[in-house]
Amino acid sequence: DGIDVEDGQEEKIFVSVRVRPMNAKEIAKNDSCDWECVSDNTIVCKNVLTERSVYPNAYTFDRVYGSEVATRQVYEEGAKRVALSALNGINSSIFAYGQTSSGKTYTMTGITQYAISDIFDQINKQVDRDFVLKFSAIEIYNECVRDLLSADGTPLRLLDDPEKGTVVDKLTEIHLEDWTHLMELLAVCEAQRKIGETSLNQMSSRSHQIIRLTIESVANEFSVIGSASTLTATVNFVDLAGSERASQTRAAGKRLKEGCHINRSLLTLGTVVRKLSKGRNGHVPYRDSKLTRILQNSLGGNARTAIVCTLSPAHTHLEQSRNTLLFALCAK
Ligand code: ADP
Ligand code: MG
Repeated sequence: DGIDVEDGQEEKIFVSVRVRPMNAKEIAKNDSCDWECVSDNTIVCKNVLTERSVYPNAYTFDRVYGSEVATRQVYEEGAKRVALSALNGINSSIFAYGQTSSGKTYTMTGITQYAISDIFDQINKQVDRDFVLKFSAIEIYNECVRDLLSADGTPLRLLDDPEKGTVVDKLTEIHLEDWTHLMELLAVCEAQRKIGETSLNQMSSRSHQIIRLTIESVANEFSVIGSASTLTATVNFVDLAGSERASQTRAAGKRLKEGCHINRSLLTLGTVVRKLSKGRNGHVPYRDSKLTRILQNSLGGNARTAIVCTLSPAHTHLEQSRNTLLFALCAK
């Protein structure tokens, strides 16, 4: 697959790290907090005894957020610009990456709602174009794609459309009316996700959820001459599977015996993100997983991307937190 660098507009991925507060269980166990945000972009491991080895002690990203920072700020400083670029016809993706229980869903739920609220506001203000919003939602589990707006659990196929690229065949797309409607649709997705979960153990930590909003607009009688007659772009809010699934490579032999497999979509996403951050030359293996195929047009090229990497503060999770930070370093 070639990569498109036509208008030189491609940007670096905006990478931030967010540490959640200690939870009740960690506090009860007297677990220590390993991490400290020493500036708005640098996080350090305070545990020098274990940290003096091969791992860096300080890590710098576009932004880092300590446990006291609200999701609103996490959204405003990175994801907002990325999400709103879809109003101007630029595809975008916002990811939450991290181990299970590090705060991915908490963070992405907030970001999704703030972003769509801002999109509604912007659309109401902008009189020179008429907008249509379309909502859809996907879950990828074990390389099967499921429609979160349909009770029919049949896996959906991916098709290659000569114009649109990869499309999810028969995916429900609903014309999004307003805020109340959004809340209803998110509740449907949540319920669908839960239904899947009862039949499959630990499904939520192994599956990826994508909320997609497609924004279409047409110039109207108030538009200035020369503005684009139609614009279409998609913004994707991606709540990834727990990253412990990507770091199981080393234990692969043992895991395979246990019948537990490595998450292909998560591994491929890592490779794609690494390639994209390295100047985007050469082959980017979008086609190696369902997740990266679905997101191909919204990842790399002229698309905008933000990744929030979530960390547990607890010493118990030091190993996983380091892995998450190493992923984040590769992305920037
Ligand atoms: P994940 O989706 O990564 O498995 P969750 O988002 O479900 O993790 O978070 C695990 C728990 O921690 C939840 O109860 C959630 O409400 C809480 N939590 C996560 N991040 C924060 C935060 N920044 N502030 C307060 N509570 C949080
Ligand atoms: Mg979650």
